[in-house]
Amino acid sequence: MDIPRIIQEQKQYFLSGETKPLSFRIHQLTKLKQAIQKYEHEILFALKKDLNKSEKDAYMTEIGVLLEEISFMIKHAKSWVKPERVKTPVTHFGSKSVIYKEPYGTVLIIAPWNYPFQLAISPLIGAIIAGNTAVIKPSELTPTVSKLLKRIVDETFPPTYITVVEGAVETSQALLKENFDYIFFTGSVPVGRIVMEAAAQNLTPVTLELGGKSPVIVDETANLDLAARRIVWGKFLNAGQTCIAPDYLFVHEKVKQPLLDKISDYIEKFYGKNPLENDDYTRIVSKRHFDRLVSFLSNGSVVIGGTYNEETLTIAPTILDHISWDDAVMEDEIFGPILPVLTFQQIDECIEAIRNRPKPLALYTFTANEAIQQRIIHETSFGGGAMNDTILHIATPYLPFGGVGNSGIGSYHGKKSFDTFTHHKSVLHQTTKFDLPVRYPDFKDGLKWIKRLMK
Ligand code: NAD
Repeated sequence: MDIPRIIQEQKQYFLSGETKPLSFRIHQLTKLKQAIQKYEHEILFALKKDLNKSEKDAYMTEIGVLLEEISFMIKHAKSWVKPERVKTPVTHFGSKSVIYKEPYGTVLIIAPWNYPFQLAISPLIGAIIAGNTAVIKPSELTPTVSKLLKRIVDETFPPTYITVVEGAVETSQALLKENFDYIFFTGSVPVGRIVMEAAAQNLTPVTLELGGKSPVIVDETANLDLAARRIVWGKFLNAGQTCIAPDYLFVHEKVKQPLLDKISDYIEKFYGKNPLENDDYTRIVSKRHFDRLVSFLSNGSVVIGGTYNEETLTIAPTILDHISWDDAVMEDEIFGPILPVLTFQQIDECIEAIRNRPKPLALYTFTANEAIQQRIIHETSFGGGAMNDTILHIATPYLPFGGVGNSGIGSYHGKKSFDTFTHHKSVLHQTTKFDLPVRYPDFKDGLKWIKRLMK
């Protein structure tokens, strides 16, 4: 595959100006929506094949969210693309100030395997509505989805506008050598560093959607039944392979046992007595990830689950008790169906632990205490999160989604996706009817006047 040529041709196409009118962008999004709808069954099948995702989860998290996002863009983009008139200070008397919304040009989207369809297409929706051309590099770990993405994109768009380049690390690195106008990367923290280093060579702006250890805190005032239900759903959805899944549980020691009892009940209710025999239970993506996760099962003590099947690459929803920060499971993002439990007596212990570690992508707090909610929001830093829920903050176009510090740079969804893929070009339109002379060197008492104006 001639990667430099693909990019060259996209750049030429972009310069033709064809992607710029709003009507073109909306038409392309409409085509994309129709293609997703047309291929719904193939998408569900590919997700079943690569990850054993259930139809319901796959539709909800990989198809439904995209259709909604496209509808939102089509409905709102008209007001976003307009040049924005802003105020002008008195020092610039006579002029007009305008922010023009300019597409960056040709963008690179690198996607991970855990929501392999959604995380390739969701940034693409932003790139399209902002008027860019795009190259998508799907994950090689979900090959059926990768092939299908290529087929859908090839059938829907000319490659000079949008194309999929399949491949593994070498392909990704070959793409990163090119001079893109924007790079949107979703994946792990170590690869995020590689992407940013490559982008630095061309001073290409980046969005990095990374991961991290996202805590869930449950205090003694929480509604334990709801907390258990929402934690079990958020943690074991996609078998824990969700960037914003609760990574570990911080529970007030007084309510630990009743919470764990309820968690156990909900695991059984949602996945059955033997989740390994549940046909709808997502599998671990690869043997390497499976082995890494199984190695954690010897940390602390297994109080729920702990079983696994090497042939189907499944691990039952598992709770690990008697865990400390020194355990291997607490080092990096777990990214699997294993929830370690830590206890606390004072909320300050949670705040301190979170502050002492890399900033998480998400943070969830279950509490009825408003003051505690405010303390968590104002005293810890995290990408985003929810009070008394898990995951759902990602699924609204009104809340920008992204990390902070180690969990990422930049954000997207809804208008924020448009802004992410748009250069905001500021232009001052100066009058030629008169020329205020105060700035010029020959203006008498210039400094005095400048001091009066600029304070
Ligand atoms: P990954 O970083 O291994 O791979 C992501 C992409 O980068 C893939 O397309 C892969 O081919 C490519 N890649 C891998 N190694 C590379 C290298 N050395 N040079 C250039 N490209 C390379 O991530 P993953 O395992 O696919 O996904 C899991 C990670 O992604 C987790 O850390 C998870 O938290 C994170 N994630 C974040 C979000 C988010 O929205 N913030 C969403 C999903 C996943």
